Amino acid sequence: MLVDLHVHTCRFSSCSELKPNMLIQRAKSLGLDGIGITEHGAKWDLKEAMEIAKDHGLLIFRGIEIHTPAGDMLIYGAHRSLKKEMDFHLLYQTVKDEGGIIIAAHPFRGFWGHRSLFKGYVSDEILSMVDAIETHNGSCSHKSNLLAWDKSAKFYLPSVGGSDAHAHHQLGKCLTFFERSPANEEELVHEIKLGRCMGAYYTKKIPIAEIAIDADNV
Ligand SMILES: [Zn+2]
Ligand SMILES: [Zn+2]
Repeated sequence: MLVDLHVHTCRFSSCSELKPNMLIQRAKSLGLDGIGITEHGAKWDLKEAMEIAKDHGLLIFRGIEIHTPAGDMLIYGAHRSLKKEMDFHLLYQTVKDEGGIIIAAHPFRGFWGHRSLFKGYVSDEILSMVDAIETHNGSCSHKSNLLAWDKSAKFYLPSVGGSDAHAHHQLGKCLTFFERSPANEEELVHEIKLGRCMGAYYTKKIPIAEIAIDADNV
């Protein structure tokens, strides 16, 4: 099962130009099985995510990306409201209390969500606390992703991948391969915790032109 676990849409991420309808069309044309939408500091409505799944045969997993002074973190399986920017340790406690998972996003990109505020590499201390590491991020160089891959081995961390798409042509550049097929967010968290997943580059070329231009409804 192939899932892009790191995507931003213009619905809740002001830095993204990716309209939800275009996201769905492009994901379908790429042959993805699911999408993890990780808006900055906001989470999609469950009912809407389930309707998309029903109408398009595409699973939508609702995550969230949080900026912390220790690096950007992708969160799945936490339902209490989280802030766009948080102290890492407070975030950690909040997510753990709910049984959710923390994934270190693009840990070696060299800059994080707010370039002027946070930059650098995610420390070993923080990596020893997270549940998984994004070894394949579409906005990172291959060298940065390789550093993340090395750390996943050092800390026995499950590997995940996501495009970090902010536009439709970026979607699916990196993906997560799941050995089993999580049907909902609870199962997704479970599979990642058990490490039955792996980040990967998606090399199949699908023409962008396959996307209908009338995907204007957001
Ligand atoms: Zn980020
Ligand atoms: Zn992101």
